[in-house]
Amino acid sequence: MVRTGLVAGNWKMNGSLEQNQALLTAVVAGIRSLDRVNCAVCVPFPYLAQAQVLLNQTHLAWGAQNLSQYTHGAYTGEVSASMLVDFGVQFVIVGHSERRALFGESDQLVAEKFKTAQTAKLIPILCVGETLTQREANETESVIAGQLEAVIELNGVQALANAVIAYEPVWAIGTGKTATPQQAQDVHVFIRDKIATRDNQIAANVRIIYGGSVKADNARELFAMPDIDGGLIGGASLVADDFVSICKAAQ
Ligand code: PEP
Repeated sequence: MVRTGLVAGNWKMNGSLEQNQALLTAVVAGIRSLDRVNCAVCVPFPYLAQAQVLLNQTHLAWGAQNLSQYTHGAYTGEVSASMLVDFGVQFVIVGHSERRALFGESDQLVAEKFKTAQTAKLIPILCVGETLTQREANETESVIAGQLEAVIELNGVQALANAVIAYEPVWAIGTGKTATPQQAQDVHVFIRDKIATRDNQIAANVRIIYGGSVKADNARELFAMPDIDGGLIGGASLVADDFVSICKAAQ
């Protein structure tokens, strides 16, 4: 892997103070010896304070799963970028397919959230990916190009120098169906080439990670592909041994 790998857990709406304590303690112990991969967990907002206390000065970074596009004000229920910064957050997921599909987040809104995150010096993990219907209709590339272009239009291609892209085929998320290493590699190359039409250097350096039913037993073959720089891990990030094995596979 030419770029430093990144394995980020997406806990989604799971966890409790007690469960998190056990999970984080075990993950921190398990990844102690890894020095060629960055590891992170994106936890629900209420647990950011716990993550900050438990993970400070460890090899495990922490992040959030969403943020508001607004900086402050009368937006009941929203969480701002500066609030995340207050809790030592490094990464924030933007445009996860569950937010796009279940909470109506458009490409434009995702681009705005990306901007708000970067303005606060957070590293956005920008999720892109096609549904099964779109893949079967041969629309994978056009869908992903649209998701990417919206972010580049608003933020400029330079913004990708401080961001991570996660390719997450919607049909592979939480379904147990993983893209084959070659299927994922092909889309990662498409994304990198698309960015290269604007800036070669940024395209070569940006980390593009894969998400969609990555497990301890398929991580190694996915991460062995030249353009797959790690993973965004849902279900398997809730099991310490599995998440540690996946981190090790990216080393
Ligand atoms: C995700 O939620 O980003 C994800 C990839 O989930 P899973 O690994 O469970 O498919």
